[in-house]
Amino acid sequence: MQYTFPLCVAIMSLNELMNEISNFVSERDWEQFHTPKNIAISVAIEAGELLECLQWDSPTTSEIMSDDKRLTAIADEIADVQIYLLRMCSLFDIDPIENSRRKLELNKKKYPAEEFSGSSRKYDS
Ligand SMILES: [Mg+2]
Repeated sequence: MQYTFPLCVAIMSLNELMNEISNFVSERDWEQFHTPKNIAISVAIEAGELLECLQWDSPTTSEIMSDDKRLTAIADEIADVQIYLLRMCSLFDIDPIENSRRKLELNKKKYPAEEFSGSSRKYDS
């Protein structure tokens, strides 16, 4: 059986999602715990939980896609990482789309396609 994500009938912008996350935090009076350090630690912890989903074996993408339970677990951890990253963007008033595009442009300069196509080497090696 193919895993299917819930159908999203409304298009939600990242700003709307960031507001929903901020409301979630505010309703629980958790702003006091959302220091930059705590959010950064939380990103790393959730990224570790994402790694945990792949610990002890090396499934291919198609193997994961055909395993509903594993795909759901991975999607949950992706969401946790993303929520904390968006929370960090809110703390610093960073537009996540503009910021990612800005960094992608830097990466394009660091890793020109004509020089790095098919290569996994680091730019300074
Ligand atoms: Mg988690």
